[in-house]
Amino acid sequence: MSGAAPTQGLPALPALSQLDWQDGQLHLEGAALDALAQQHGTPLFVYSKAAMLQALAAYQRGFAGRNAQICYAMKANSSLGVLQVFARAGCGFDIVSGGELARVLAAGGDAAKVIFSGVGKTRAEMAQALDAGIGCFNVESEAELEVLSAVAQAKGQRAPVSIRVNPNVDPKTHPYISTGLKDNKFGVAHERTLATYRRAAALPGLRVVGIDCHIGSQITEPTPYLDAMDRVLDLVDQIEAAGIPIDHIDFGGGLGIDYNGDTPPAADALWAQLLARLDARGYGQRKLMIEPGRSLVGNAGVCLTEVLVLKPGEHKNFCIVDAAMNDLPRPAMYEAFHRIVPLVPKAGAATRYDVVGPICESGDWIGRDRDFDVAPGDRLAVLSAGAYCMSMASNYNTRGRPPELLVDGQKVMLIRERETVADQLRNERLQP
Ligand SMILES: *Cc1c(COP(=O)(O)O)cnc(C)c1O
Repeated sequence: MSGAAPTQGLPALPALSQLDWQDGQLHLEGAALDALAQQHGTPLFVYSKAAMLQALAAYQRGFAGRNAQICYAMKANSSLGVLQVFARAGCGFDIVSGGELARVLAAGGDAAKVIFSGVGKTRAEMAQALDAGIGCFNVESEAELEVLSAVAQAKGQRAPVSIRVNPNVDPKTHPYISTGLKDNKFGVAHERTLATYRRAAALPGLRVVGIDCHIGSQITEPTPYLDAMDRVLDLVDQIEAAGIPIDHIDFGGGLGIDYNGDTPPAADALWAQLLARLDARGYGQRKLMIEPGRSLVGNAGVCLTEVLVLKPGEHKNFCIVDAAMNDLPRPAMYEAFHRIVPLVPKAGAATRYDVVGPICESGDWIGRDRDFDVAPGDRLAVLSAGAYCMSMASNYNTRGRPPELLVDGQKVMLIRERETVADQLRNERLQP
């Protein structure tokens, strides 16, 4: 499953993106992106609804005939217009803050299908989630169990809990996005799991409903999932043998996408393997949950940007564009690779550039050593920008965050307006 075949010398495009070349121009679901950039200005995020639903459909096919709930891990892209797509498709949501819960409710999501992850939930967030009636708290430490029990008890409730276990498997991904090794801050250590479940079952404000794990992100092979599944099922055996029933088993998210010819397994193929393992161990009819984020939205979005100036140098040429690390933080944070392509590629001789933003930081780069024929005023697309871009965007350098468009066949909807300087100054106060 590599990217779509290059069309006659035009750059390769990622799989499952709904991008293609028509008349030598980049299109998303049939919409000409250069025209959208001209109309709405740059930087600009554009998403394909069909690409999101296509990615979701692969999971739905994988779980056909099973009792499974897909909870979109919304930190990947939490814009309301994106949440609506998944809420209307019947998804639940994996949230990590009270703010994200408010977004789910504003987008028409079902609170009963919300699971609340994260190592540091505040008491106020716990109370807010109990009031909303969320489906499950994914608890990450013994101390958190005690606090949650107290908060629920004060409300005369029993909080539904799952304990996030740390299966100690190496997802073979970037260290900043691997979360299931024993030196990570996430989850309860394998050896402590049974004791932690005993404590949860004894606390008056809690009701044990599940078990969960999440081993990392941008995972491109099935083996870490199979290993984690075996480790989690061993724990379910132990916990249930101790008389504590587990209603659902949640295998987290983490499936990778094609950023640069990466070939992660398709969601349905991966789940065919995982379900075979579950069936073999007698757990195939359990209620299953997953928390995919990146794999549902990553390749459904692009960020469009305009070339401001070209700056030749002795060793490097710089292509300075109007998008920056505040809009696209992944290269600066993880040295991540995003394909960058001209929206209307030219046939002239290519020059090698580092594509960088205008921010006063050497870390403000978007792509290194890219070859193209561009001039100031030309526009580029940064591909695979649907996940962990807009949701991580900031106002560094008092830059307004970009607008977002959602393409749905013939329709193009503005789902977020460009942030103005007035928006940014609104909460600040001058000294008297
Ligand atoms: C971030 C996160 C996810 C989603 O990860 P992806 O790699 O985007 O699929 C799922 N579960 C938890 C607990 C997370 O923190």
